[in-house]
Amino acid sequence: MNSFTLTQVDSVAAALADRASHDQSAYLSGGTNLVDLMKYNVTRPGHLTSLSHLPLHHIEALPDGGLRLGALVTNSATAYDAQVQARYPVLSQSILSGATPQLRNAATDGGNLNQRTRCPYFYDLATPCNKREPGTGCSALTGYNRGCGVLGTSESCIATHHSDMCVALAVLEAVVRVQGPSGERTIRFEDYHRLPGNTPEVDNTLQPGELVVAIDLPAQGYAEHFTYLKVRDRTSYAFATVSVAVGLEMAGDTITRARFALGGVAHKPWRDQEAEKMLEGQPASPELFRRVAAKVFAEAKGYPYNAFKIELGQRAIVRALRQAVAMDQARNPNAFLNSNP
Ligand code: SF4
Repeated sequence: MNSFTLTQVDSVAAALADRASHDQSAYLSGGTNLVDLMKYNVTRPGHLTSLSHLPLHHIEALPDGGLRLGALVTNSATAYDAQVQARYPVLSQSILSGATPQLRNAATDGGNLNQRTRCPYFYDLATPCNKREPGTGCSALTGYNRGCGVLGTSESCIATHHSDMCVALAVLEAVVRVQGPSGERTIRFEDYHRLPGNTPEVDNTLQPGELVVAIDLPAQGYAEHFTYLKVRDRTSYAFATVSVAVGLEMAGDTITRARFALGGVAHKPWRDQEAEKMLEGQPASPELFRRVAAKVFAEAKGYPYNAFKIELGQRAIVRALRQAVAMDQARNPNAFLNSNP
């Protein structure tokens, strides 16, 4: 690890100013990813602006019925917050499926958005990686690419975004609030992370120096019909091979509003709004879910070690949608729930 300086700031304005006054600087919040990256020399900031004293540790209700998560609220505090559990259970469920209790106690909500890929070649300085060193090539294209993406990939990078929380935030259509040298702005969650294209070194649409200060959740939390299904190699402390978050509104057997997103398959949480529309206004049925799942993966591209994700992802979508519908089974018993997947 390179030596670095560190400044502890106590306001957002001071954080922006401190970052701007140092070359090769980075913001430090929970540090659960950044410190690893520094230990591996994947990133070598000469200066860190520590955010831990900023007043961004609160969860507060919004006038429109939504909820604001301060960027420094820990993942644990978010997952166990009474309002989040009651109104946004898909978010709580997704967070608790990730990492370990110790990591969730340290990791922050803002930091979760900005974690970097866990592609092994990204962390291995002995191998080419366009995301770490643009223009050097992508070792995963011909290497061990089991954890890589099958949707939205490019010849420059096939890495995935590994957050569980962000898959749920995509379903909730959260809004990211940022402050930077040009003032405050908001970014729709679907616009926050980006696909690799020919600039895979850029993970998101933050501008230089900008800081995530909060994540706003809209009033609709899909508490009646939701699920977070995570398929992984072991039942704890493993990134998703494929995950699916679902939020539905239903009237009887009919889906009136559908949101779903996938993790583990792309460079960002993957939403397909055309596929969501296929569900809306339709009676829930396994056959419909299978058609929707096939649509999502119609243009998927598999690689030697991860092509299985194309079938696995479709099965996961079908199962996740069934689970989300089944939440209502007590007051809307539905025969199709007992049919084969
Ligand atoms: Fe690097 Fe992306 Fe290729 Fe992994 S998939 S080696 S992160 S360029």
